[in-house]
Amino acid sequence: MNYTPEEKAKWDKVIQTLEENMDDPAQRMLFKTFIRPLKLYAVTPEALYISGDNSFNLNHMKSRWGTMIYSAVPLVFGRSYELEYYPENQIAQIVAQLRKSTLNSKYTFENFIVGPSNQFAFAASLAVAENPGDTYNPLFIYGGVGLGKTHLMNAIGNFLSGEKPGLNVLLMTSEAMTNELIEGIAKKKTSELRSKLRNVDVLMVDDVQFLSRTKATQEEFFHTFNKLYDEKKQIIIASDRPPKELPEIEERLRSRFEWGLTVDIQKPDFETRMSILKEKAAEENIDIPYDVMEYIAHNVNSNIRELEGCLTSLDAHARLMNAKIDLDMARTALSGRIGAQAGQPLTAETIIEAVARHYGIVPGEITGKKRSREIALPRQVAMYVCREMTGMSTTSIGQAFGGRDHTTVMHGCDKIAEAMKADFAFKKRVEEIISIIERE
Ligand code: ADP
Ligand code: MG
Repeated sequence: MNYTPEEKAKWDKVIQTLEENMDDPAQRMLFKTFIRPLKLYAVTPEALYISGDNSFNLNHMKSRWGTMIYSAVPLVFGRSYELEYYPENQIAQIVAQLRKSTLNSKYTFENFIVGPSNQFAFAASLAVAENPGDTYNPLFIYGGVGLGKTHLMNAIGNFLSGEKPGLNVLLMTSEAMTNELIEGIAKKKTSELRSKLRNVDVLMVDDVQFLSRTKATQEEFFHTFNKLYDEKKQIIIASDRPPKELPEIEERLRSRFEWGLTVDIQKPDFETRMSILKEKAAEENIDIPYDVMEYIAHNVNSNIRELEGCLTSLDAHARLMNAKIDLDMARTALSGRIGAQAGQPLTAETIIEAVARHYGIVPGEITGKKRSREIALPRQVAMYVCREMTGMSTTSIGQAFGGRDHTTVMHGCDKIAEAMKADFAFKKRVEEIISIIERE
């Protein structure tokens, strides 16, 4: 549905008022032919979309009664709207096309590269796009910055506008939602946002971690959620963290986020990073040798937007300097992005040093013999980071950690991996240490 029952009633009232004002019989005849067929099709914040029989009648109607209708609208609606008239056999497509424009058409399922880190999120998104409302509701997608959440949501929207153009799809960031609500409250017109949100068939809310903690915003979203859910309308939410890690959000709302399916997007592995680079380079017509792609894929591992950034910056460099892209040029051009350390192998010493600093102990304690928890945990974290960030074997990691056995290293790494799965805050902490080391 593209309008609320109240809006429909108001439109009917406009027509009725007009009819009542025509008193001579000839006019009434014309009214029957030209005005009565006008049906409300959709309401947007700017315009009323009205369908009529065919364009000939619509043109005639507009030139004769257009102004009159335009002036009658505010009397009933309390505000003026643009009026957009289209023949009934075209209006669905036209309105769908207009809606699509809130989506970014660049982001599709076709150009989303699938790897182990995102295949589950991809499959779930596709399933939801194929059967909105009755597969997984809500679909909750979470993952770090630049890993493809917004891309997937747009892909769902774009897919739907192609396959099911009649559906009313809305993609909004939680910030935009908060702002519109605050504005609505200030102007005493919250009903506008309410009808916009509650009359969609698919509601996508991006970056829900920024949903304002104010009661009014959460209350509004809560009721919207319930209404859409009860009517089996699809809800899709994206966030940088899982529902239970959203302390700003009321418990009743948070628990609803988990009613459907929760999927995460991990950082892409090396293979996926390479595919993304290849694909994007081809798309943008950037001629980039394989070893340069490897250099980027090795050094940029946590953010796909950053991978793209490297390509763009290489391309700009090549054009400006009128040079070919090669490894030397890439090292210089990307030095700001990749850091001075890049290219030189990361050593266990550097990692031990950074982890010790993070925990406020000295590196010697990590490689030393103490087994108290305050030391053992940073030690295992450092082992884990070594295994993640360097190509070192568990045996050589053991050696770098004061001559420990490789099984001790394996045990330490497994413990950290498990703890990261169980405890999101801890996972963030370890990832933060890794990104600090990456930046150094
Ligand atoms: P997020 O919303 O998770 O922060 P985005 O969806 O904005 O991330 O993605 C950042 C950039 O990376 C976008 O340009 C997007 O097209 C691209 N991107 C992310 N994941 C993929 C992927 N799997 N395949 C191709 N491009 C991707
Ligand atoms: Mg995003």
